[in-house]
Amino acid sequence: MHKMTLAQLARGLHDGEFSSLELTEHFLKRIEQYDEQLNSFITVTGETAREAAKAADARRAQGQAGLLTGLPLAHKDIFNTRGVKTSCGSRMLDNYIAPYDATVVEKMREAGFVMLGKTNMDEFAMGSSNETSFYGPVRNPWHLEYVPGGSSGGSAAAVAARLAPAATGTDTGGSIRQPAALCGVTGLKPTYGRVSRWGMIAFASSLDQGGVFGASAEDCALLLGSMAGFDERDSTSIDRTVEDYQSSLENTLEGLRIGLPKEYFAAGLDAGVAERVHAAIRHYETLGAEIRDISLPNSQLAAPVYYVVAPAECSSNLSRFDGVRFGHRCEDPKDLVDMYMRSRGEGFGDEVKRRIMVGTYALSAGYYDAYYLKAQQVRRLISNDFAAAFDEVDVIMGPTAPSPAFKIGEKSDDPIEMYLSDIYTIAVNLAGLPGMSIPVGEVDGLPVGLQLIGNYWSEARLLNIAHRYQQDTDWHLRMPDVFV
Ligand code: GLN
Repeated sequence: MHKMTLAQLARGLHDGEFSSLELTEHFLKRIEQYDEQLNSFITVTGETAREAAKAADARRAQGQAGLLTGLPLAHKDIFNTRGVKTSCGSRMLDNYIAPYDATVVEKMREAGFVMLGKTNMDEFAMGSSNETSFYGPVRNPWHLEYVPGGSSGGSAAAVAARLAPAATGTDTGGSIRQPAALCGVTGLKPTYGRVSRWGMIAFASSLDQGGVFGASAEDCALLLGSMAGFDERDSTSIDRTVEDYQSSLENTLEGLRIGLPKEYFAAGLDAGVAERVHAAIRHYETLGAEIRDISLPNSQLAAPVYYVVAPAECSSNLSRFDGVRFGHRCEDPKDLVDMYMRSRGEGFGDEVKRRIMVGTYALSAGYYDAYYLKAQQVRRLISNDFAAAFDEVDVIMGPTAPSPAFKIGEKSDDPIEMYLSDIYTIAVNLAGLPGMSIPVGEVDGLPVGLQLIGNYWSEARLLNIAHRYQQDTDWHLRMPDVFV
């Protein structure tokens, strides 16, 4: 069953080939068997999953099942899940049991999904390798000495090893697309405002967006349809009809204009990755697409801008973790200031502290204009580059990450090196655009991802473009040997 895509599993449930309980047990067994090696889950909710699966089977027996009723999935541990630990990968929230469900969790449950558990992640979603998690690093299923990418590394690894048929993630600067690329799965980060952020623990509010990991674009279409939509509890959620992402998957790509930004193929890109990405683009030509060279001239400013904006917003968002309202509190504080200082000092890891310090500095009186305001102005230039590009092309393609997965420990002492793993993904968040990563090959046994960037609200078109490639190729169906 684990070799089937979510769409195939939905059909299997519908045709009575297996029950939701059997399916859920199958994945729980795989988690038990393999997750010791991967560390992709922080919490496994076996009991509640079995209950939910039984309830789904009962609904089906009564003829009340929907398309997604009884399908298992995992949630990134950044989404609040009522009655279940929601740690955000941090010691700070190791003792935190969420009192409510995030909108994404609620909507997906209502659509029929059965939650298997909560996946490991970089602490507060800050990282590109899953090494900053309080719960230890996640391993890449294709090579256990390598990182799965981050920050949604647990979700990507779990789907790649088929410990879950699908998972949610969040993407602030690349945290869905980069781990999807490094683990060889399909990932989608929607337009900012498409998916509610309510109940999703905030990192950088103007950049964060929930999204999905699946085995295929078709799976991502099913998943997105169940989680997207307006939410009055999120002031940046946009009131716009959710499309039927399934119905356009087969549309023709005849005449599709693909833009290749020269900045995404410049120095710093691994030769093997470049070769696989070009091969995928050539395949699109055979499907009737036409290729155009374009330029996104401010690309090199994306990382510096992001590393002002994201830390600034995180320093503000993370001020709520003060030892009073939720999470870790130090032992025997001598006074209020001592409690704040020690609770935060003990609760947060090094990368989170680094970001809080950078952000607090950037926002302080006298520096706000020089850093935060300036960064926001440059951010506008980056958006304008995309707007100009989308006057000429329908979709932008390039590598998702500059190299395949790197070794655990290889970049953990060098924050700048680590930050550069997102050079091709960050600008998309700064502009609020949708983006995907799909597997298009391997270099030395490690997966390579192709990034697809669309204009605002073009999720259906992106899924269609990804799906057409996947109909002709099988990169997305390959599984790491050890987990077959
Ligand atoms: N790797 C980037 C960072 O560390 C992006 C993380 C994310 O998208 N959550 O901030």
